[in-house]
Amino acid sequence: MAMVDLTTPVQFLPKVGEKRARQLEKLGIYRVYDLLTFFPRRYEDWSECVPLFNLEDGKDQSFIATVVNAPRISRFKGKTTIFATLSDGSCSIKAVWFNQPYLEGKIVAGEEYFFHGKVTRDGFQFQVVNPVFDQRQKEETMPSLIQPIYPLTSGLKQGHMRAIVGKALDLAVPLLSEVLPSFFRKEQKLCQIQYAYEKIHRPQNMEELEIARKYLVFEELFLLRAALSVYKREQRKLRVSFPVTAKKEEMEQFQKIVKGLPFELTEDQGKVTHDILSDIAQKYPMNRLVQGDVGSGKTVVAFLSMAACALAGYQSVFMAPTAVLAAQHFATFQKFLKDADIGIDLILGSTTVKEKNAIRKRLATGETKILVGTHAVLSDKNEFPSLALMVTDEQHRFGVKQRATQEERSDHGIHTLVMSATPIPRTLGLVLFGDMDVSVIHSMPKGRIPIKTFRTSSAEDGRVLATIRQEVQKGHQAYIVCPMIDELDESAYEDEEGTLSRQMKEDLESAVKYYEELSSGPLSDMHVGLLHGKMKPKEKDAIMKDFSEGKIDVLISTTVIEVGVDNPNATLMVIRNTERFGLSTLHQLRGRIGRGSLPSACILESDKYEGVAKERIDMMCQTTDGFQLAEKDMLLRGTGDFFGTKQHGIPQLKMANLYRDAECLTVIEKAIDKMFAQDPDLSGVEGRIMMEAFRNHFGDEWQKPSL
Ligand code: ADP
Ligand code: MG
Repeated sequence: MAMVDLTTPVQFLPKVGEKRARQLEKLGIYRVYDLLTFFPRRYEDWSECVPLFNLEDGKDQSFIATVVNAPRISRFKGKTTIFATLSDGSCSIKAVWFNQPYLEGKIVAGEEYFFHGKVTRDGFQFQVVNPVFDQRQKEETMPSLIQPIYPLTSGLKQGHMRAIVGKALDLAVPLLSEVLPSFFRKEQKLCQIQYAYEKIHRPQNMEELEIARKYLVFEELFLLRAALSVYKREQRKLRVSFPVTAKKEEMEQFQKIVKGLPFELTEDQGKVTHDILSDIAQKYPMNRLVQGDVGSGKTVVAFLSMAACALAGYQSVFMAPTAVLAAQHFATFQKFLKDADIGIDLILGSTTVKEKNAIRKRLATGETKILVGTHAVLSDKNEFPSLALMVTDEQHRFGVKQRATQEERSDHGIHTLVMSATPIPRTLGLVLFGDMDVSVIHSMPKGRIPIKTFRTSSAEDGRVLATIRQEVQKGHQAYIVCPMIDELDESAYEDEEGTLSRQMKEDLESAVKYYEELSSGPLSDMHVGLLHGKMKPKEKDAIMKDFSEGKIDVLISTTVIEVGVDNPNATLMVIRNTERFGLSTLHQLRGRIGRGSLPSACILESDKYEGVAKERIDMMCQTTDGFQLAEKDMLLRGTGDFFGTKQHGIPQLKMANLYRDAECLTVIEKAIDKMFAQDPDLSGVEGRIMMEAFRNHFGDEWQKPSL
């Protein structure tokens, strides 16, 4: 057989061949390396052997016994059944194997074996059906009692999988060289790479398994984090972007815009703006994430960055996840720009062709400096002669694909700014945004009064309505939010109206019904509005406009208001059927109130105050801090439903768990800094092995790990 290396296709392994190779492909296994990293899903510990007289009914158990007589074999209608009697001297037990003709001859009278399987009582005697077994041998070659259990696919049995992985281990483990820097292995007391890969598949005991596992968690996180760093460095070298710098006169104009804002910037806003301005002055592209809880004031930071570009003669694009939000930001920016002479336009999916053409003309001549909109801003038909900056608001609402499109849209580098309200713990951010620089707005604008949150049930509807009435009498406004299916975002309503599920229709009706009920009944003397995702964009815009101008007192809505909508005069939010919402949605929804200097309250209504829903409601009542909520949610559920794993493109890890092992990332971060300080291009001996490992681990696409 030809030489095997880590990238050899599995097909060329002994005992594999074409048919098996195709089965393995279904499990994502193509190369020998994929087998090494095809880690067992779990292990069965067979080390606790039970004497036969101590067997219990109905449990999986292990025992050692001798086959008493030659097994009896029955063939009936083409099916083979093997019967044997087993004994350990104290007791005996019946064993039966159905449909496993290949076992014939492997169960030999007088030999002692190790058995494992589910034992049941059959009359006076115990019986075990289809037990797995191993022949007992001399001490040193005793089979391991910790059995790996692999994920399987049809036609591929546990035994085959073990044999194939075993072959791969025999041939390829000796080829592995140490990937992690030796200082780091020493510091973290990690075992050697060969030991780790051998023992994760074939441990003799639980201790060995733990040692192997520790190494592999570190290796995986280290590789991921290091690859992201390399990617970030290479991106910088790859593309040249417009350096946005200002002359004295432009600086003065910029200061004038800042002074003209309706509020003073908070310290964090000022600092983040400064970060951005110094980034975009460079000729390699900025790739920066601005993270700040809902209401922390991220918009103005993006605005100032775009204004700086415009003053320097460059264009920028601001992309929002919904039409409502885009329109609102556009209006805000127009106000902020009042007497500055900067061209700004709004483009939505619903913008008429005629209008679009006019806007495109202004873009092409460079008259329009700032383009605000939904993903319509990305249309190929929009030509930007001098696009310097691309801002994505509420980036977690966009898929990974959209993010990639942005990056490909130009032959020169574009400064990229993404804004996210998703509170991601720092350690996790190191991986998720490993290829970005991160700025955080920690503090809220001055004068905010924390939102009070209460829980009620539908039995208290009367009191809730009275509270709404009180607020409206004070001249304030209220939201009432009715549930909608969480996973389906607004675009699902817009694009696929014909395919709405029944569940969604019911949900929709719940908002519509409630609106009809209230506006013709208890709240008939007020201005009640209705907003849901199935409305035409124009209708939605009109409703939102009325609401922000105070023409609507109470807005009944689905979660379409979840993202970014801003009305500081709204002081009350009632959420109905709270149990239907995830924690992150609840937090985002609540962020719609408490946005000015008025005291605000959030009422969580639910008749299912139990289980996970109860925990969520309690958490919401206890804190308004998104980071705390995220962390608690993480502790409760392990994998953060808070982060919307898919949207973030969290990489599929094989061994590490980003939540459980987040702590490791802190030490890994330090080690990686040290590694790059010693060998910036990874061109030394250890560096080259690391680059090779990236390729093995992330495939040929490794340059863009996880994205
Ligand atoms: P988010 O970070 O959720 O996008 P916004 O940018 O929409 O938050 O800001 C929330 C509200 O706070 C807006 O009404 C905005 O005008 C206001 N705001 C932002 N910065 C300040 C500030 N420095 N002082 C007072 N109010 C501010
Ligand atoms: Mg916002």
